[in-house]
Amino acid sequence: MSFGRRGLPPTGDTATPGASPDGPEDLAAIFARLITAQGPITIQHYMGEANARYYASRDPLGVTGDFITAPEISQVFGEMIGLWLADLWIRAGRPQPVHYVELGPGRGTLARDALRAMARFGLAPTVHLVESSIALKAVQLEAVPQARWHHDLSTVPNDGPLLVVANEFLDALPIRQMVRTDAGWRERLVDWDGTGFIPVAGDRPMDAAVPEDRRDAAVGTIVESCPGAAAVVFELAGRLVAQRGAALLIDYGYDTPQDGSTLQAVRAHARADPFAAPGTADLTALVDFATLRHVAESRDCRWLGTTAQGAWLNALGAPTRARALADAAPDQAEAILSGYTRLVDPGQMGTLFKVMGLASPLWPDAEGFGSAA
Ligand code: SAH
Repeated sequence: MSFGRRGLPPTGDTATPGASPDGPEDLAAIFARLITAQGPITIQHYMGEANARYYASRDPLGVTGDFITAPEISQVFGEMIGLWLADLWIRAGRPQPVHYVELGPGRGTLARDALRAMARFGLAPTVHLVESSIALKAVQLEAVPQARWHHDLSTVPNDGPLLVVANEFLDALPIRQMVRTDAGWRERLVDWDGTGFIPVAGDRPMDAAVPEDRRDAAVGTIVESCPGAAAVVFELAGRLVAQRGAALLIDYGYDTPQDGSTLQAVRAHARADPFAAPGTADLTALVDFATLRHVAESRDCRWLGTTAQGAWLNALGAPTRARALADAAPDQAEAILSGYTRLVDPGQMGTLFKVMGLASPLWPDAEGFGSAA
């Protein structure tokens, strides 16, 4: 591969087949070449490629990585998810076979904690992990050696109920953005100006891609959508209806539609510029839970509710579990309790993160969603 073209950034050595993943400049060089040759690319294209490169090349989680997630902060998180699923499964009549499915399982910590909690209730599902990153699969194999891996839901078994979990998965899927200009709605694209990437409005009219009730928004308004998240939930909801089961989708997001760009990059636990050094920082966008609820319901799947992570954990009795863990390990009590507080505190992850529950219409009511369930 050669990117030695005029006006393009310096490149790393990508000529050796099987060489370790490219240096930071390489995806930037590929994008710059593509844009120079063909014009601006969509944000969806940019984000999809950047995250594929980012996750394929590293384990981004933990103190030494770029960001930390709830299951890495406290084991109570995975345990409560396991308990919630076991409770539903028991009240559904303990159907067998039953399959645990996790989307984007990271280091496998949530799966390990959830499966341990389920086992206490006699629930020992087969384990299916949907993961695209080779680097993370290796880490997951250590945590959950009995798992089978999948590229998407299509190869997950269809002979029994699914117990599905996705934590901070949907936020990593690429978004599209439409921006209202003087001339109407346009897709927001990524251009290369010779030194850096910049968001620009495309030429083609895109009014039809904007929900009708938002088309009159002021010039400058940005409306996001995430076709990948909608496609996953569409497939998942269809599966839950066809073969029964339930799902918990947990992410930072909103449950009433909102405008504006939520695209962000995180590197080394700090906000970074999403348009700088693509492939070297985690790109995410807030999850639009209102739309995902409609997608699920359009398939006759049952929406159990969308609630704040803190409220959901507290309703399930998680504080008692955190206290018991702290009492059992007095020397770590402070760390255990402060980790738990981080998950539920409204100023930390408690309110921004939401839990959405979905289930087969034939499955019983669920805990944790208040009056919505
Ligand atoms: N759920 C984990 C990790 C969250 S990070 C936790 O809570 O700690 C996002 C995860 O989704 C990673 O495992 C990443 O490799 C995976 N992922 C991102 N995009 C994906 C895609 N398109 N298909 C499959 N997995 C993907």
